[in-house]
Amino acid sequence: MSDKRGFDTDAIRTQLERSPHREHAQPLFLTSSFVFDSAEHAQALFNQEAEGAIYSRYSNPNNDEFIERLAKMERCDTGIATASGMAAMFASMAAFVESGDHIVASRALFGSTHQVLTRILAKWGVSHTYVDPTDTEGWRNAITERTKMIFAETPSNPGLQLVDLEFLGNLAREHRILLSVDNCFATPCVQRPADFGAHIITHSATKFIDGQGRVLAGAILGSRELMDEVQFFTRHTGPALSPFNGWVVSRSLETLSVRMDRHAENAEQLARKLEGHPRISRVHYPFLDSHPQVELARRQMKNGGGIVTFEVAGGAAGGMRFLNELKMISLSANLGDTRSIATHPASTTHSKLTEEERQAVNITPGLVRIAVGLETFDDIIADVEQALEKV
Ligand SMILES: *Cc1c(COP(=O)(O)O)cnc(C)c1O
Repeated sequence: MSDKRGFDTDAIRTQLERSPHREHAQPLFLTSSFVFDSAEHAQALFNQEAEGAIYSRYSNPNNDEFIERLAKMERCDTGIATASGMAAMFASMAAFVESGDHIVASRALFGSTHQVLTRILAKWGVSHTYVDPTDTEGWRNAITERTKMIFAETPSNPGLQLVDLEFLGNLAREHRILLSVDNCFATPCVQRPADFGAHIITHSATKFIDGQGRVLAGAILGSRELMDEVQFFTRHTGPALSPFNGWVVSRSLETLSVRMDRHAENAEQLARKLEGHPRISRVHYPFLDSHPQVELARRQMKNGGGIVTFEVAGGAAGGMRFLNELKMISLSANLGDTRSIATHPASTTHSKLTEEERQAVNITPGLVRIAVGLETFDDIIADVEQALEKV
């Protein structure tokens, strides 16, 4: 077989060596530490002269298999598994910055990532500038001599604004700074930031990667050199992924590709059906012709992903009413689950932002987000339509 296997084969067949039991699926390695053959073996492992697991805060076979698979899918050398997406976001920044450094980031960031920049890294003298994700000149103008990293999320949550990854890849190369992309919304099945020059890819594996709403997990991926720095940081600060959760998300990668195709198929159908609905003023979905960046979406994404957002009539009260009238679709803070989930960002995930900050990232009072699941499409649309009738 050639070295270059297909994307799906990599996701399914990448595995660590099996034990003498010849198990087909990877067993669960619930062990905090590993045994040394001798004092010399322990010494060699600690000096990184021999390869092997020492302690599960450093590495564990379940997490290693998860990372090997995801790194192949993201076209990165290697990576680090973390206990949650936020542990990945924080470590991927904290490992590289020091007091006085500056980060340029998209204004449309996941809420906790925004808090890491504004309240946590700021305490240690790391500053940041936010940029409108769609304003290419804005990205360029925000870079200073102390800029260490560009951090972007695309598509954004919940505004579904896109960042031009090719442009950012070139900009980062020009200025010799790091480009880090949170690829949680798209997953490597839909877009691969490394193909456009991203140096670091981060994930909340809690979302589409697990895909069934069971565990928290995260990942940081990149070149071996960069990941050595992140590994130093995580090894000593301890945001390690539980091996059980690593085992779950590693198995989940095997079905991610087929699930993402169906999430996107259902989401695109829902977006198309809702456009022009009398109780909805606006539908956001990257692959709709009405999306202001549809050309960019078709260039950098395989499909439009699994999230649809729309503006319900009646403002905030209309949005909340819509949620209360849903019969099947769950009200939950997660996304990327087999079960469709609805949220009202203005009253929940983004309620801490000012009205102005919300406007800047497309979060209007009546905006509803649906993380479209894998149920029969007719049942998804029927639930949305009956709830809209009561708004
Ligand atoms: C959920 C999410 C995170 C945080 O991940 P957790 O696993 O919940 O810690 C980060 N970025 C994006 C885009 C997310 O949706």
